[in-house]
Amino acid sequence: MADLLVIGAELVATVDAERREIRGGWVAITDGLVSAIGGPEQTPPAAARTLRADGCLVTPGLVNTHHHIYQNLTRSFAPALGGTLFNWLKTLYPLWSRLDEEAVHTSAYVGLTELALGGCTTTTDHLYVHPRGGGDLITAEIAAAQQLGMRFHPTRGSMSLSVKDGGLPPDSVVQEPDEILDDSARLVAKHHDPSHGAMVRIALAPCSPFSVSPELMTATAELAEELDVRLHTHLAEDPEEDDYCLAVFGRRPIDQFAEVGWGSDRAWVAHCICPNPEEIERLGTWGTGVAHCPSSNMILGGGLAPVAEMRAAGVPVGLGCDGSSSADSASLWLEARTAMLLGRLRQGAGAMSARDALEMATRGGAACLGRAGEIGVLAVGSVGDLVVWPLDGIAYAGALSDPIDAWLRCGPTAARHTVVAGRTVVENGLPVDSDLPEMLSRHRRIAAGIQAAFENAG
Ligand SMILES: [Zn+2]
Repeated sequence: MADLLVIGAELVATVDAERREIRGGWVAITDGLVSAIGGPEQTPPAAARTLRADGCLVTPGLVNTHHHIYQNLTRSFAPALGGTLFNWLKTLYPLWSRLDEEAVHTSAYVGLTELALGGCTTTTDHLYVHPRGGGDLITAEIAAAQQLGMRFHPTRGSMSLSVKDGGLPPDSVVQEPDEILDDSARLVAKHHDPSHGAMVRIALAPCSPFSVSPELMTATAELAEELDVRLHTHLAEDPEEDDYCLAVFGRRPIDQFAEVGWGSDRAWVAHCICPNPEEIERLGTWGTGVAHCPSSNMILGGGLAPVAEMRAAGVPVGLGCDGSSSADSASLWLEARTAMLLGRLRQGAGAMSARDALEMATRGGAACLGRAGEIGVLAVGSVGDLVVWPLDGIAYAGALSDPIDAWLRCGPTAARHTVVAGRTVVENGLPVDSDLPEMLSRHRRIAAGIQAAFENAG
């Protein structure tokens, strides 16, 4: 007897090794894992609970490979909106220096709920601001994920270079290297679950080449190797970063990345807008993953990431909605659609299909997180994470011939049901957990307090 049976789908897009697409398909989930998949000609198992998916597309749960959830507390913050990446950061760091456990827990609850509504079932979070006296922020956000039932990969972010060292952040939000490494090891011991089907995994994530020292980058890579956890950072996000790295390190960002011991399949990096052809080949050889963040890249004007070239070179490419105050929206459906549009704008209509975008949002993301075959795919033994997408109503009227193309060309849309480990997180388009109204009002109070810091300082 299965725990959950999702049945009657217009199409089940498994995104499995054979890319099977099953008309009229069904998926059974038992003990948190997919236990059977079939079509109308196979008899599904009996199940404790059945969800109908008539007229819907069923996909694996989408995987978000880059985010800064706490930034939803400074969303669309007017004083920061017109500048370059570096100006934007310098405006916002003083506000983020007010983060504490309550702020992070509340922002995570709201942000994770938003992600679930957009079809995400596994998300990372890159939390790199750890203000002095702010408390255990990563544990606070994990509590929100556990309450909601989301699969969560928080990364222990860090910054060690402040303004006085030639970095961008103020002194109050950077930490000493030893403190960062000790806390990283503590969080891995406390939360990281290496087992198949794990709900929480930790990765180590210095913010960027210009916010930590090369020594800390190297020490972090060594610690990740020792603890067998993954590595994440921002890389090649902006032409200004090329200039900075050449001036400070005497080499380009990806050369510096290799120099500090990060060129491996243990790492995945955010953005990667500016690699040259030779650097793309190196990323592919290393197996270093890339979190492509189309909305954020467009809003910050960083440029067009060479996504097709990276995928052709064997680079695992996933999607990220990126920080809540750079991309401001957190829907992986929207990022998948935008990735498709950008790919076509860049190289022509044949360059990026809806299936390519779906693949990045699922298999690509799984590869970035070192969980290929386990998440981001519907196959027997993979996790029971899936999304039931409505293909009805005005937006889909007339789109009868290809449910996957329709899913991204029409819209906008959100998940009808989001299932994580066989349990619904979103049902009939609404969050299952009942705390959202209370958490939204708390979020508004905390956000207003943090944003008031700007006026007080200014
Ligand atoms: Zn980012």
